[in-house]
Amino acid sequence: MPNSLSPRHAVYAGSFDPVSLGHKDIIERGARMFERVTVGVGVNPEKSPLFTTQERLDLLQQVLKPFPNVTVACFEGLAVNFVRRCGAAVMLRGLRTLTDIEAEFTLTLANRALAAEIETVFLMASEKYSHISSSLIKQVAMLGTDSLNEHEPLEAFVPREVISAVRAKFQRVKREKGG
Ligand code: ADP
Repeated sequence: MPNSLSPRHAVYAGSFDPVSLGHKDIIERGARMFERVTVGVGVNPEKSPLFTTQERLDLLQQVLKPFPNVTVACFEGLAVNFVRRCGAAVMLRGLRTLTDIEAEFTLTLANRALAAEIETVFLMASEKYSHISSSLIKQVAMLGTDSLNEHEPLEAFVPREVISAVRAKFQRVKREKGG
């Protein structure tokens, strides 16, 4: 583990199940502010995500190809420990709503108690993406499959590289459910 943490290196941790236009916007803006951004895909054995860890990493890697100072990795356990292992002194977070602010406030205080040397930096979500969440994407993917509609509804929520992966995943989920 590096002795000193770099204030020019930020870690953006989340579930990214899957990566959305909102996440991409925060990463892109973070990459302009910091020398390095590491995107950390959290692996929580108690949750069953839609996409496997490897699928989430692959999708992020495709979407983030244009940003040379952004790398992607996965981690288990506390996010602050991952931030430390990366040698970063900053944790990057996105804020969408008042509910987010409340939750993030508690989380930040907990993280500060665990690792006072790590500072959390918040970026306000862009107005065009502030309604986007992973659960909304899943709902749209599950319900928005009208073959007569030429317009792809997922385009408004996920980067274009992610659309076919979400579609394929939901076709499988529906087949498995016998729908
Ligand atoms: P989600 O809530 O969509 O599952 P994550 O749990 O992966 O996303 O969240 C990781 C971080 O990204 C959090 O700081 C969260 O507030 C932020 N975030 C999530 N969606 C957006 C969005 N649409 N715009 C800006 N920030 C976002």
